[in-house]
Amino acid sequence: MKFQQIRSYDNYIFANLQLNLLKDQGISCYLQDEHTITIDPLLSPAIGGMKLMVVDPEADMARQMLDRADEEYLKTVACSGCGHVGLEKVTHIEKPEGFWQALKIRLISGATVSMKTHYHCPACGRQFDQVPV
Ligand SMILES: [Zn+2]
Repeated sequence: MKFQQIRSYDNYIFANLQLNLLKDQGISCYLQDEHTITIDPLLSPAIGGMKLMVVDPEADMARQMLDRADEEYLKTVACSGCGHVGLEKVTHIEKPEGFWQALKIRLISGATVSMKTHYHCPACGRQFDQVPV
């Protein structure tokens, strides 16, 4: 069976929450590099975090489920800056400029474009790299 990466995480708890959410829906998935990062968290940036791998035909469905779960969850999260409840998700797609950057992204994430997700507080404008758990 062929698997594809749909997300990556630095946070073990968040990674497992999302893994179990998909497993509960009967989706075939696993976390790649989970044990390496649990043993040595400093390796996480070097190997691109824990990767959520989903079996190919179910990947789109899994992505939609996680997006929906994120939206629902974000409505309940309070901004650590101002206390406003309800964060927004912002995803940027970065197209590589030139051969070397394309190669770097390819080696790090296995993808041809790099996606960066931030979480944004609409009240104070603060940005977070990860959802505050
Ligand atoms: Zn705020």
